[in-house]
Amino acid sequence: MEKCALCGGKTKHKKVDIPTKIDDKFIVLKGVPAYVCSQCDEIYYDIKVARALEEVEDGVLTGGTKMVRIKNAYEIPLAIA
Ligand SMILES: [Zn+2]
Repeated sequence: MEKCALCGGKTKHKKVDIPTKIDDKFIVLKGVPAYVCSQCDEIYYDIKVARALEEVEDGVLTGGTKMVRIKNAYEIPLAIA
């Protein structure tokens, strides 16, 4: 995804932190490789990354994902190339 589907701006590939909520837990997914629009900050993922994120979310529900507790939230460091 080189161009933003919303505004047509150029996207940049970089690692971002994604705050989310899974099973009533506040979770920050750290170091997610994503394409971020330079104009509107919309975030896009590769299909590979999207699948990995789904697996992480499943892992949170089943207890299989390692999480680091930080105050009232959890951080999950991702190791996706
Ligand atoms: Zn955009």
